[in-house]
Amino acid sequence: MRALLLLLVFTLLGPGRALGAMPPAMLVQMQRADDHPREALSQIQLQLDAARVMADDEARFWWSLAAARVLAKLEQHGQATQNAETAAALLARVSAAPEPQRLWLQLAELDAQAALNDRASLLPQVAALRSRAEALGEARLACEARGLEQWMLLDLRSDDEAWLMAEAVERCGQALGWPEQVASGQLTFAILARQRLADGSTGLQPQRHLTQALDTLGPRPARFLRSLIAWESGIVLRHQKQLEPALLQLQQARSLSQELDDSAGVAAANLEMAAVLLALSRPGPMLPLLDEAARLLATGGEGDLAYRMPRVMQLKIEALIRLASPQLPAAIEQAQRWSADVNAGNRTDLQHAMAKAYAAIGRPVAAYEMLRTAIQTEQLARTAARDTQLQRLQARYDNVRRDAENAELRLRSEASRLQLQAEADRRQTLTAGVVALAALALVGFTFGGRELARRRRMAALVLRDDLTGMPNRRAVQAYAQEQLAQAQRLGLPFTLAVIDFDHFKQVNDRFGHPAGDAVLRTFGQVAGGVLRGQDRLGRWGGEEWLLVMPGTRLAEVDAVFDRLRERFAITLVPGVPVEARCTFSMGAAELDSRAQDLDALVAAADTALYRAKQDGRNQLAVAPRAEAA
Ligand code: GH3
Ligand code: MG
Ligand code: MG
Repeated sequence: MRALLLLLVFTLLGPGRALGAMPPAMLVQMQRADDHPREALSQIQLQLDAARVMADDEARFWWSLAAARVLAKLEQHGQATQNAETAAALLARVSAAPEPQRLWLQLAELDAQAALNDRASLLPQVAALRSRAEALGEARLACEARGLEQWMLLDLRSDDEAWLMAEAVERCGQALGWPEQVASGQLTFAILARQRLADGSTGLQPQRHLTQALDTLGPRPARFLRSLIAWESGIVLRHQKQLEPALLQLQQARSLSQELDDSAGVAAANLEMAAVLLALSRPGPMLPLLDEAARLLATGGEGDLAYRMPRVMQLKIEALIRLASPQLPAAIEQAQRWSADVNAGNRTDLQHAMAKAYAAIGRPVAAYEMLRTAIQTEQLARTAARDTQLQRLQARYDNVRRDAENAELRLRSEASRLQLQAEADRRQTLTAGVVALAALALVGFTFGGRELARRRRMAALVLRDDLTGMPNRRAVQAYAQEQLAQAQRLGLPFTLAVIDFDHFKQVNDRFGHPAGDAVLRTFGQVAGGVLRGQDRLGRWGGEEWLLVMPGTRLAEVDAVFDRLRERFAITLVPGVPVEARCTFSMGAAELDSRAQDLDALVAAADTALYRAKQDGRNQLAVAPRAEAA
């Protein structure tokens, strides 16, 4: 058997194999790991030994990676990290390692660290890795990165992002013909649905997603995944107050984990069984389960302990309170360490339990202090989850916006400027296009079942242009719309202007794009100091701005333009020499007796702007007013 394996290893990994691709034999073991990670691990170990005998560094690299990945699956993060380190040292020896290899290594490193370190700080690295893999056409790598990303997001309670990522995992798993990966996406849906139910949402059916995951697996063995699914089923049933069926599911999960020699899985099942027993008011049998869990977790090392020990301690304290046990003070003492560990998950629940315990042993002051700490921890966790969510939404929105702007810029440079009317028409079309895109982006954000508060947060998120910090197109458009409607209602004057930098392409060409960016930022700052309270300037796209001036007549715009121009002329822009100072042109239009909507007003201002450019730039032109009715 061993000789046969060696032969296999030799054919697959012998010298002369093309550098860079993951050996197919490794893929086989990674897939086996979804069924029986320990067995896969011992096969990997054999391959690793063989590669060492043959001094094949590249084969050793890949098999160390495989070991790291499987160990991370088994939550043996310390050992996983060691293997990733070995792989890194080996890769350093291979001169000019191709990028996919480096990315696979990075994935293994992140996977191993995910339980040890602050996930929020690792997340951007996983996302960057995933985009690189996508760009390189490394579909499997990208899909695995998504798999890791979904767990991290889930853990951070960044629910919506986790949901989107699970959808992506489901899709890429399907595309790759990889049912285990599809099922893992569906398992994430179930977990999210269960968490949201617990948070008070309605109409979610975690059980349905679990059934789907099982259907996806079909006849495949996938025992490891099945143990996760049974475990989650138990938790779902507990939340649905079906406690006896919950116990049955968890027992099934536990025996599967035992069969697979997956100690983290056994510990996890024990914890949930203890939680069910607590709900059944049977604290006695909880203690042996929890003691066993603590013992099993201790074999994994620090990271694994930090990950689950807070929950062990929380449940133990709850049990001891119910039992009015004299061991309670000692347990509180022991729990202190995990309640203060910043890397520990579930800290809040533990702190709440400790507060209860202090109250139970007649220490109300300590109980009060602990409760306050718990509330602070909870707030911190919520802030972290929200920050993650916002960062990712911002990034996604930026992409959509950049695409829209690029499309607009492309269209503009392609189009001839010869025909005034054509320009005005196009402006209208473009406006509609960008609004539609923004709407699309919003639809992307507001997929199923999100609460109003979240939508509001997102609306606030997308109102600022991130280069200049000024109101973005959406924001200034909304303001213009609102002020225009008011002016029409009350019969007040209303003027708006379009501003466009002169020969801005030359600024970029001569001094570089960052200098061009600095011009835009500086202009935003200058305008902030010059404009009146009700006036609002927003970035309309590229180097164009929209200035909304409620209560202002066309005759007053001259003064506004002069103030802006003078102030900007005397302001230094980093990266742009004084003698090459930038100027801008402005076109303004006032609401008049013609029934005018915002688009028509912007088009009129645009036409005027065109005239200002024609007449030599660095000046204001105003749209002719209709005869007063
Ligand atoms: P003119 O307005 O006088 O007709 O000439 P122009 O050079 O300004 O021509 P146009 O308005 O068509 O070109 C605008 C240029 O602005 C093209 C694009 O490269 C540049 N631009 C757009 N957005 C940005 C940005 O965010 N940063 C920088 N640095 N440049 C930008
Ligand atoms: Mg322009
Ligand atoms: Mg320009």
